[in-house]
Amino acid sequence: MKILVAGGAGFIGSHLSDELLSQGHHVEVVDNLVTGRESNIAHLMSHDHFKFHKLDIVDQVPQDSYDRIYNLASPASPIDFAKIPLEIMAVNTVGHKNLLDLAKSTGARILFASTSEVYGDPLVNPQQEDYFGNVNCIGPRACYDESKRFGETYTVNYQNKFGVETRTIRIFNTYGPRMAPQDGRVIPNFFTQALKGNSLTVYGDGQQTRSLCYVTDLVDGMIKLMESDVRIPVNIGNEREQTILEIGEMINSLTQNQAGFIHKDLPENDPKVRRPDTTRARELLQWTPKVTAEEGLAVTMSYFQSLL
Ligand code: NAD
Ligand code: UDP
Repeated sequence: MKILVAGGAGFIGSHLSDELLSQGHHVEVVDNLVTGRESNIAHLMSHDHFKFHKLDIVDQVPQDSYDRIYNLASPASPIDFAKIPLEIMAVNTVGHKNLLDLAKSTGARILFASTSEVYGDPLVNPQQEDYFGNVNCIGPRACYDESKRFGETYTVNYQNKFGVETRTIRIFNTYGPRMAPQDGRVIPNFFTQALKGNSLTVYGDGQQTRSLCYVTDLVDGMIKLMESDVRIPVNIGNEREQTILEIGEMINSLTQNQAGFIHKDLPENDPKVRRPDTTRARELLQWTPKVTAEEGLAVTMSYFQSLL
């Protein structure tokens, strides 16, 4: 198939592109490199079945015909929410609409990369897809949370009104090689600090929880969803829920870092718990994650080591 990956120079998008190429598809990436990096796709540039378009999808999308469109274009780190909120709102609404229009006019099937952030600071744990969430629409995370929610609304209405074949994946915290070291998320921060022998910066008391999914498992779930007939949102993530302190302890132990932790203020509206209910993915897609945190963090450590 001929497949467009928007945001394909980013962390997850570049792994998705690798996998789709290895399955024999033709892959085109569209990316404006706002948070992605050419180095993530440098190894693909000479591939016969690969093409890169450096474009902002808010302004322009490639005018071609595709069988599949994966839309992963959006900054995803909380530090970007403060720096470029308007760009984040634009890409998940106007940018996504541009790709929906391309799908509508060419008959492509389109997948929207949504997020566990649609559940906000959840009042139920684990989160099932039918939970409506708890989002502060004027808080510091709102540019991301609300624009992803609106992106989902756009998606379902193009499906209902125009019959566009859509898929919606709600991605939970995903990690692995090619995460940008300075993007401020917990895994890049902790590895960068630990490998330099520095204390890990724990925000708040570190008792807040996250559930970490290794990137190859996520990509597997994303492709399974795209190729299924499931038109409702599906959570993809790992159900192993850990506190931030537990994650920090694993990383200090892996890196043999003796420096311990320093505590910093907890950011406003930082979700206290997060854990996917993946019943839908298991039953409808026959998907389960395979990579343990111990295995995934070891590979990720080697990647961050190679950058230093
Ligand atoms: P990333 O920042 O590494 O990748 C996003 C890519 O989109 C980057 O290459 C960036 O340059 C590109 N992009 C942003 N705005 C664009 C625009 N206007 N036009 C063209 N390209 C643009 O982030 P990631 O972690 O790989 O996330 C990929 C997707 O998955 C995002 O949509 C994100 O919201 C979603 N997601 C990720 C996670 C996670 O844990 N990594 C969790 C939930 C959802
Ligand atoms: N966090 C932390 N120290 C850091 C970076 C993040 O304690 O250096 C915490 C953050 O407050 C949150 C969790 O780790 O509770 C996950 O943060 P991240 O930015 O990776 O993603 P989020 O799930 O909040 O979008």
